[in-house]
Amino acid sequence: MKCFRCNHTPSELPEYRQQAEMEEMQPDAYVRMDEGTYASYYDMFTCTDCYVKMGAPSKDLLIAAYAAKKLKKGAEQI
Ligand SMILES: [Zn+2]
Repeated sequence: MKCFRCNHTPSELPEYRQQAEMEEMQPDAYVRMDEGTYASYYDMFTCTDCYVKMGAPSKDLLIAAYAAKKLKKGAEQI
């Protein structure tokens, strides 16, 4: 699972490492449980840094961006 924008995994991002540590969880599991931008269907999330840089979009807009990214990725594999 990666941030759809910067392609960092939760364990590469200090904010999730710290929060996961406090919950005694793996960073991936923490994001799945507690990250509001995580979408299980796409297995993507948006880290806080990217979210703020995008201007704090709604979840609907994020899902649309995940869908576009997934489509593009699919097209690249053909
Ligand atoms: Zn990011």
